[in-house]
Amino acid sequence: MTEIQRMLLEEFGEQKVKFTEEYFEKYGTDWYKEIKPDPLAIFFPESESDLKNVVLFANKRNQPIVISGGRTGLCGGATAANKELIVSLEKMNKIEWSDEKKQVVCEAGAITDVVKDFADSHGRLLPISLASSSSSSVGGNVATNAAGSKFIRYGSTKEHVACIKVLLANGEVLKLQKEIAKDATGPNLMELFFGSEGSLGIIFEIVFNTCEKPKFLETVLLRSDNIDAVKDHILSPEIKKCISSVEYWDENCQTLIGDIPEKKYFIVIELVSQLEKELDSCLELLAEKDLNIALLNSKQAKEIWDKREDLPVILADKGAYKMDVSLPLNQLSSFLDKIKNLESKEIYSFGHLGDGNIHINIISPSKQSELIASTYELLKECDGSPSAEHGIGQRKKDIWTEFVEYQDKFKLLKTLKKSLDPKNLLAPKVFFD
Ligand SMILES: Cc1cc2nc3c(=O)[nH]c(=O)nc-3n(C[C@H](O)[C@H](O)[C@H](O)COP(=O)(O)OP(=O)(O)OC[C@H]3O[C@@H](n4cnc5c(N)ncnc54)[C@H](O)[C@@H]3O)c2cc1C
Repeated sequence: MTEIQRMLLEEFGEQKVKFTEEYFEKYGTDWYKEIKPDPLAIFFPESESDLKNVVLFANKRNQPIVISGGRTGLCGGATAANKELIVSLEKMNKIEWSDEKKQVVCEAGAITDVVKDFADSHGRLLPISLASSSSSSVGGNVATNAAGSKFIRYGSTKEHVACIKVLLANGEVLKLQKEIAKDATGPNLMELFFGSEGSLGIIFEIVFNTCEKPKFLETVLLRSDNIDAVKDHILSPEIKKCISSVEYWDENCQTLIGDIPEKKYFIVIELVSQLEKELDSCLELLAEKDLNIALLNSKQAKEIWDKREDLPVILADKGAYKMDVSLPLNQLSSFLDKIKNLESKEIYSFGHLGDGNIHINIISPSKQSELIASTYELLKECDGSPSAEHGIGQRKKDIWTEFVEYQDKFKLLKTLKKSLDPKNLLAPKVFFD
């Protein structure tokens, strides 16, 4: 046991501090397995004061910290490989309901699905829709500004947050909120923490607004070789107003999940409305578009959504290199064609067609780096973003130099980091070297 481990144990007790290999293996890393974990210890705060005390302890001793939520991140943000102290928020998971404002007030370690189910039990919807929501934490969702399959209708996590409480590296607590829609009291500084990936502060409490649940829902399926035609038809304003999700997967993904591809793209569209009439007229419009749609019953829809959710897991099991890009919608089709021309068999793509977010998965033992570099080049030609929703973490820091348009942002981020965390204690390897 090192001196600092002994001090931690003495100060906080063995219930809250763990050092064993078993814990290191479980809490040391997220889904990105290329970085080998090597933490100092895992700390489990149970309250705001525990959290504050451990941050002050670390600050006094210049001990770096990595925040751990559900560890479903795909960029090594929650991975501790340099003797950082991991602070796991899993025991800070209380959830309360505010009936007056129809809000969920929760601690950051609460699991996303648990919070969603809790909102549902109060007749409301929290529309954060990720395939990882049974394990991710709401703190992690805020820290990565997670989006997902319903972005097209509901936006990303930040759209649903009314207030956050954040602990800074010096032990100070900030309460930041945007409860009033029209508010010009300077910049909205809560925004700083969406996508901050544990590097600017520890988000420990979140108040979520909730939405009315849609009364009517239909799911349709179509197959096509021409993604542009589909996109242009379904994203017309009369249909788009009912769309909550448009997901596609390509031929390779269809084969991977055991289907025989009839066309290049398998596309599932979910439509919702409060009015049955409105939904019916959207379905009629879709039927008129000659897209050969099939209306699914709820059992069929569930089977297809389950397959969609299995896809990233199967690809991860196969060791796929995951890229998470987004493009202007008018570039989508040509980008997908060009990607396929690079290597048709070893590139698997699926994603959120409605908002241009494509998950490219490369399974190519011999040509992986070459294919990644070519994908980045194509992305630049098409004015795309190299990280649509998964963030930067420790894994994608090369984008700051690869993509010149992010260099000013990087400069500002460095300034913010210096001012909020001058000793570089929080997530020292995220964003920066
Ligand atoms: C199968 C699968 C499907 C996925 N699908 C999607 C998807 O559709 N859309 C999407 O956006 N993402 C997706 N992801 C990525 C991931 O689930 C999200 O980024 C999620 O929001 C991470 O939450 P987490 O609690 O697991 O965070 P972690 O992985 O634990 O942490 C992520 C980052 O946030 C920091 N962090 C965590 N909690 C806090 C906190 N309370 N305060 C400050 N910093 C914190 C960590 O230090 C780390 O840098 C998917 C991942 C998997 C494995």
